[in-house]
Amino acid sequence: MSRPDLLQRLAASTAERERTQLLRRLRTVEHADGPWLEIGGRRLLSFCSNDYLGLARHPQLIDALVRAAREEGVGSASAHLICGHRAEHAELEEALAVWTGRERALLFSTGYMANLGVLQALLGPGDVCVQDKLNHACLLDGAKLSGAELKRYPHADVAAAGRQLDARPDAVALLATDGVFSMDGDVAPLRELAALCADAQATLMVDDAHGFGVLGPHGSGTVNAAGLGQHQVPVLMATLGKALGCAGAFVAGPAALIEGLLQFARPYIYTTAMPPALAAAALEAVQLAQTETWRRAKLAALITRFRRGAGELGLPLLASSSAIQPLLLGSAAATFAAAQALERHGLLVTAIRAPTVPAGQARLRITLSAAHETAHVDQLLGALESLHWPGHSG
Ligand SMILES: *Cc1c(COP(=O)(O)O)cnc(C)c1O
Repeated sequence: MSRPDLLQRLAASTAERERTQLLRRLRTVEHADGPWLEIGGRRLLSFCSNDYLGLARHPQLIDALVRAAREEGVGSASAHLICGHRAEHAELEEALAVWTGRERALLFSTGYMANLGVLQALLGPGDVCVQDKLNHACLLDGAKLSGAELKRYPHADVAAAGRQLDARPDAVALLATDGVFSMDGDVAPLRELAALCADAQATLMVDDAHGFGVLGPHGSGTVNAAGLGQHQVPVLMATLGKALGCAGAFVAGPAALIEGLLQFARPYIYTTAMPPALAAAALEAVQLAQTETWRRAKLAALITRFRRGAGELGLPLLASSSAIQPLLLGSAAATFAAAQALERHGLLVTAIRAPTVPAGQARLRITLSAAHETAHVDQLLGALESLHWPGHSG
């Protein structure tokens, strides 16, 4: 027998990553206090969390979680369709539908599962799924799982998306895009994509993980910011683990969509419902995100301050007006070195490298939050100024 050994092959792949300086390392955060993280006994100011509104530590969220856990216990003890669907879930779904202006909403345990569930329920072999090349990994994985033909168009290229739809005029078609792109921070051309889909009789799906809570009227997301209703964007997905400071996700849309997902979305059906206390905390977050409007105003001011400062320093900013403000360095080694240098200054910024982004497009992914103060942004700019930038004298 000469069957190759599976674990040996895996170890070789891991070693190859290490050799090319692309190895991912798991770090344990010993304590989190807003944007401050304690790692290895050191207190670091973090610019890599997705807690954009600073809600994760909000006392009202914590109270809601504790109160519901006291009354209802910790685990939901079952899948939604068995006996795990509690009043907390139902109330949260109702609030999410109202906020997003959709007929109904359905909770999933994670955003990853929501996207797998939607794509696998809606699509099958013979169908076509057209996606932006920079879409989140779980949208791509969902399309693969569905068995549909996956076509990826160059980033934000609506004409290319149109050609891909035209190539399969008779197939059932879904066009899926991120609302805000997670590694670039820019917003998808949603109005143009909606017009294309209307024209080509394709269904439009938007994953608004990074726009929900942050952009649009009352933070209701990029789709509402673009003035698109349920008719133009029938499938809206967003997460509760980013701006809402909790965990979990939901899909919102017409009642027929939600009813169908409940029947056919396997990652919804065959998994334990999220803890009811978490749903209670998320409901509190839904209310706070809408009413504490100062959080979005503060975040916007911090974004403006960072972009102005980084622009003055000549740093390689991308065209992003969102809380995601990457600095494009290109080389993986240079990006890793920059992240390490920032850490020596007491700042935590993640180096994003291939395969999360295309090779040669490594970047520092800086994220800002309403939990930051002006002085924090200035501290980051000061540390960035002291780094050596290719093509700069300083
Ligand atoms: C984070 C993210 C997800 C996954 O959501 P989780 O709840 O973390 O599983 C999906 N899509 C996008 C665009 C994301 O950024």
